[in-house]
Amino acid sequence: MNKPMKEIILSPEQSDKLAGIYTAMVEGYDQVATAIGLSCQGCPDNCCDSYFLHHTYSEWAYLWQGLRELPDEERKAIIGRAEQYVQESRAQLAGQQRPQIKCPLLNEDGLCGLYNHRLLVCRMHGIPATMTRPDGQSMRFPGCFRCQEIVSDDKKYPQGKDAPAMDRTPLFREMVALESNLLVDKRHLLPRVKLTIAEMIVQGPPAVDTPFCER
Ligand code: SF4
Ligand code: SF4
Repeated sequence: MNKPMKEIILSPEQSDKLAGIYTAMVEGYDQVATAIGLSCQGCPDNCCDSYFLHHTYSEWAYLWQGLRELPDEERKAIIGRAEQYVQESRAQLAGQQRPQIKCPLLNEDGLCGLYNHRLLVCRMHGIPATMTRPDGQSMRFPGCFRCQEIVSDDKKYPQGKDAPAMDRTPLFREMVALESNLLVDKRHLLPRVKLTIAEMIVQGPPAVDTPFCER
């Protein structure tokens, strides 16, 4: 017998909070990208086939919020592509290969079919960034290959590390706070999230096994 599950849904305030974090990420990204002169226009790569894992229930729930707003046919087509993605990625991983498969949300025009609900990684990948972890350790991310080419060619940045970088720390802290707020009384019932977008789609919206007393 299947256990009864209760969907994890963002309240309107939590949705607004996440949308605000996402907007701040995009603004921070644009500032650094402009300073460096990085644009995705005409890029020979397409990050939308990169293999990324995502880690929050908040983003998973927000993704599903967006999927539900799509026309049924469109959503069904995305779910079909996601199922195929999951199958292919598992096969590639089993062959010790890092999967490189188009995101199921990419539409026929090569554009993101759920742009306003795309995930954190989709908004941050590309530019150099820094982050201070909760244990105090500092991290620096060099940006995508095109960004690294620009930075290394540019005489303004004799050391790559001199290039402008976005500090992810405050926005990641806000994400952590939002996640705690969403999971407040359920965290102990939930496994850690480590899923591709395709897996988030195929598994359906996030849900928690309801304790016996709430059934
Ligand atoms: S983030 Fe970098 S690699 Fe990805 S599309 Fe933009 S320029 Fe190309
Ligand atoms: S969600 Fe959108 S931006 Fe992110 S990888 Fe998929 S198609 Fe690309």
